[in-house]
Amino acid sequence: GPEVRRFEDAWSNKFGFRHAISVNSATTGLMTAVGALGVEPGDEVIVTPYSMSASATVALFYGGIPVFADLDPENNCLDPKSIEERITSRTKAIIVVHLFGHPADMDRILAVAKPRGIKVIEDAAQAPGVLYKGRPVGGIGDIGCFSLNYHKHIHAGEGGIVVTNDDDIALRARLIRNHGENAFEAYGITDIGNLIGSNYRLTELQAAIANEQLKRLDDILGHRQELAGYMTERLAVLDGITPQRISSLHTHAYYLFPVR
Ligand SMILES: *Cc1c(COP(=O)(O)O)cnc(C)c1O
Repeated sequence: GPEVRRFEDAWSNKFGFRHAISVNSATTGLMTAVGALGVEPGDEVIVTPYSMSASATVALFYGGIPVFADLDPENNCLDPKSIEERITSRTKAIIVVHLFGHPADMDRILAVAKPRGIKVIEDAAQAPGVLYKGRPVGGIGDIGCFSLNYHKHIHAGEGGIVVTNDDDIALRARLIRNHGENAFEAYGITDIGNLIGSNYRLTELQAAIANEQLKRLDDILGHRQELAGYMTERLAVLDGITPQRISSLHTHAYYLFPVR
């Protein structure tokens, strides 16, 4: 419908993603991403042990095997060295989470993944509008996901967005969102092996709300960053409390305010 299309265009234009594909949650968006990358039974998917549960479980929906790597304690995101240690001949993909809104170390993670042909999914549910070295997260790896659930920065009751700059991955994601059945011959797809989908569609009603919410995102992020800056300075003087610091190269969405 027109509201869904307007929202997808607005999201891709705002952040410069080639494709934005709306779905009914970030969880189904992550499932779509796993399917769009062609994860098959027995493939291993490296995941984080510290996130919302779907970040680790989604590989199972395509018969993939979640393999836990460890965190970098500075940013609470996957540690590239730990990822490298978990790679086997069966590793197909890595699901990186920009936890609490701090970007993961994408350059080092891609340096591990790309030469080996391993795909990278970015779970950016907590990080809409976050910049990693000036680039919006979600579009740095092969495919990314955002959430529009009630708890997130902006919401439409429920909802999600899948983003990618790759035309083939986008096409597969669009098909998976709609039962894998939508006129695949018309799109020039002849091989639909493992292209199992479902009804992951965002509704027109949700998209109409999301279109209005998106206009507020910059203000919401700015307000959180201002409050977090205030808290960071004042908590840092207390012994035993270490607020998370953010490099000037990146931004932080402060979905939560992590303190060690
Ligand atoms: C909220 C969240 C999800 C799931 O989002 P839904 O839209 O509720 O399915 C996935 N990953 C992370 C990191 C989240 O915070």
